[in-house]
Amino acid sequence: MTSLRMKQQTIVTLDLEGVLVPEIWIAFAEKTGIPELRRTTRDEPDYDVLMKSRLKILDEHGLKLPDIQQVISTLSPLEGAKAFLDELRSTTQVIILSDTFAEFAQPLMRQLDWPTIFCHQLDVAPDGRILDYKLRQPNQKQKSVAAFKALNYRVIAAGDSFNDTTMLGEADVGFFFHAPASIQTQFPQFKPFDDYGELLAAMRAVL
Ligand SMILES: [Mg+2]
Repeated sequence: MTSLRMKQQTIVTLDLEGVLVPEIWIAFAEKTGIPELRRTTRDEPDYDVLMKSRLKILDEHGLKLPDIQQVISTLSPLEGAKAFLDELRSTTQVIILSDTFAEFAQPLMRQLDWPTIFCHQLDVAPDGRILDYKLRQPNQKQKSVAAFKALNYRVIAAGDSFNDTTMLGEADVGFFFHAPASIQTQFPQFKPFDDYGELLAAMRAVL
């Protein structure tokens, strides 16, 4: 039975890279001076080809997981991201839905006080060499939102890129944050923001 005084409970789902932290591969390429690692899905649309080439490049440079994590630990969340996330987490439940890997996200999650993240994982040899990657499931962002809705949550989502649009579309309300203008134009149904304070206010208005 629904009470007039009780609103449906909410979950906010957030993309990670571009929304709370820098693009990990691009920042990693800059820190290590390996320009080939700057390639993204915009340069190589086949994700499997892209990832296999990234892992090959890491191997050729003798970079094992601990080396990579050490570099990632020198990256910082985007300015204002931690305060935004803390404030949001004091208001409602927040889950980060990311297409990165748990092992890469870890040094940044530490800096964000370990928010909940659903992502993928790497296959790592005992000596730290990355052998392969494993997607937990394809299109996990959209599937996670659908699952939260099946648990009777109202879902508000925010992301910055193409790989977020099915998540934003599945959510009750979807916002763009830091999305390039070209992507905003293709998906005018998602209101765009570039400022954490404004995104927070927009989210609070629909929570
Ligand atoms: Mg992103």
